[in-house]
Amino acid sequence: MSFNPRYALLFEPLKIGPVTAPNRFAVAPYANGHSFLMPNGARGIRETRAEGGWGIVGMQLTEIDPTSDLSGLPYERLWDDDDVAVHARSVASIQAHGALASIELAHTGLRSRGVGTGYPVMGPSSASTLRPEVPFMAKAMDRDDIRRFRQSHCDAVLRARRAGYDIAYVYAAHDASLLWHFLSPAYNRRTDEYGGSFDNRLRLLREVLEDAQDAAAGEMAIAIRFAVHELTGPKAIRFDGDGRDVVEALAELPDLWDVNISGWQRDSGTSRYDAEGFQEAFTSFVKQVTNKPVLGVGRFTSPDTMVSQLRRGVLDIIGSARASIADPFLPNKIREGRVEDIRECIGCNVCVAVENAGVVVRCTQNPTVSEEWRRGWHPERVPVVTDRGQALVIGGGPAGLEAALTLARGGHRVTLAEAGAHFGGRVHHESRLRNLAAWGRVADYRLYQLGRMESVSLFAQSTMTAETVAELAADHVLVATGARWLRSGRGRTHRTAIDGFADATLTPDDLFTGMALAPGLRVVIYDDDHDYLANALAADLATQGLRVELVSPMPSIAAWMGYTLEQPRMLAELIDAGVGLHPNTVARAWTGNGPGKGLTVQRADTGAELPVIEGDILISVGLREPDLALSEALYAAGIAHRVIGDAEAPGPIQSAVFSGHRHARDLLGQEPEGGHFRRERPRLF
Ligand code: ADP
Ligand code: SF4
Repeated sequence: MSFNPRYALLFEPLKIGPVTAPNRFAVAPYANGHSFLMPNGARGIRETRAEGGWGIVGMQLTEIDPTSDLSGLPYERLWDDDDVAVHARSVASIQAHGALASIELAHTGLRSRGVGTGYPVMGPSSASTLRPEVPFMAKAMDRDDIRRFRQSHCDAVLRARRAGYDIAYVYAAHDASLLWHFLSPAYNRRTDEYGGSFDNRLRLLREVLEDAQDAAAGEMAIAIRFAVHELTGPKAIRFDGDGRDVVEALAELPDLWDVNISGWQRDSGTSRYDAEGFQEAFTSFVKQVTNKPVLGVGRFTSPDTMVSQLRRGVLDIIGSARASIADPFLPNKIREGRVEDIRECIGCNVCVAVENAGVVVRCTQNPTVSEEWRRGWHPERVPVVTDRGQALVIGGGPAGLEAALTLARGGHRVTLAEAGAHFGGRVHHESRLRNLAAWGRVADYRLYQLGRMESVSLFAQSTMTAETVAELAADHVLVATGARWLRSGRGRTHRTAIDGFADATLTPDDLFTGMALAPGLRVVIYDDDHDYLANALAADLATQGLRVELVSPMPSIAAWMGYTLEQPRMLAELIDAGVGLHPNTVARAWTGNGPGKGLTVQRADTGAELPVIEGDILISVGLREPDLALSEALYAAGIAHRVIGDAEAPGPIQSAVFSGHRHARDLLGQEPEGGHFRRERPRLF
């Protein structure tokens, strides 16, 4: 394996104001769920990316002072001098690997919470805050507030400089920045010199950029993170309107333009809706307008796409959040000529979902993220055992594949047996649904790696029984037999069976194992799971020509997909595909097909009866039950084993991969005593 000169451009250093990036890979400032309260875990995440070859590693959104209050949300703080030492440690860890450290300094304006500090949320004009959970109105900033804000931002830049950062950001993106709110005619109704005309709305951003350059004093680069285009909202800022005008007006003022689109839902588009490089249509003009380097994002995972962005003059630096979460060593793998070893992000937004839930970042593809410090998990290395044993992994879904790969890397000889004709388990099936092909990477990456290892034997169409397991006499047996969808109608809200379901309903497993439904059939899907699958199936079947009714006891359809930022687009997809939507609707019974028959339903809130939803076929998406048949047989035969993945506890694909990895690390001797990993402990004054 040798370096492919086609990618040489990606490794050219680039001058950014007074500093020089060693290459063209940047970890964008992204929320990683480790707030200022978990600095060790956050440092572990960043240090690992610097080690993996990213030339710039960004600190996530960092509050500049208590008036920009995001209490309860996992962001950073650089409020005062006491915060500098912690940041300096993080910076040193990044720079130790030759990378530049950047910090996204922010005041979140109307998107602040206020309730945590007790200071009013502030904005350009009196307006409701952008946080539905905090029903406050914002204070219209007076001239003293503006002066104090400028001073606060300036002080934060000075502190960032003292902490050793190479690049400090002025943040005006995601509809989550005071500066953006001043710029936007939707929020700014001022009549003084900070409102009205474009120049007036731009004034504060320009002043803050100038202040920042003064404070940086030529020792630190100043970047601007700016959303050139807004895809939602009235009076939108557009790339062919105010967005472009801002770049033209401030073209040479920052040392670096970091550009994207707004709001966050569209910036972090999933693979279901946005192709790699999807932001190009909006951001490509920027390089024509400024001589300063331009950084951009777009869920880049392929080095060919990345290099094409540079070659065609779209971007100078490839920014990445998700690709760096999924594979912290992506740049090094390209440099070492190991492109096929890249663990590509699948664009599922589980990382976003857990952050929205206030949990440390998790990833479907990379089980080691957030575990770098507290469990000591390195994304590329596992402990290697000296007593090389034989491991038998049963079930070739995400859990089995990950466990097999981790054990093989740890030095074991591994046999992986899969009952079906294909490896991949649920991923093999779900990635065949409309717009979910990228999810197949979970299996593809692992199968490719396993296929190259001499110590690994892969057997498809091999249903294991207690007898065949006993014959193999492996040192370690891992049962990854997954879970099956229930037919009975039991679901997340309905805990008991529903009349008529058990005998008649189909489950997703029936469809996955080859049952074809003819176009024109009327299908009723009852979703008491509330995750993505019922919605994905509905859209898939409707576009195949079936007439689909989607029924959910939840007040809104695709509720969980709000966490992955997909709910609005999923709803649009369902409506466009002609799917009938029935939220807030509880199933009472399935009475069969025929006139007046189908799913009898009532309102979830009042219990009032609703008209029958007629259909030829019912598909129930409720609970999944672990497939423990083999495990029970092994217990009966006295064969020691451990149950992993969905067979242990059904969950998202991410949790199956994590489970496979964790159990394998445990066998390799790297799970902490009693399961107690290192903890962050608040200081007592
Ligand atoms: P997970 O998400 O935990 O990996 P999946 O349901 O995706 O679980 O995959 C489980 C896999 O295990 C399926 O591909 C299934 O065919 C396979 N399997 C189930 N029982 C057996 C068995 N007795 N022998 C071999 N493979 C099995
Ligand atoms: Fe990519 Fe999904 Fe991992 Fe996020 S969770 S980085 S979207 S694979």
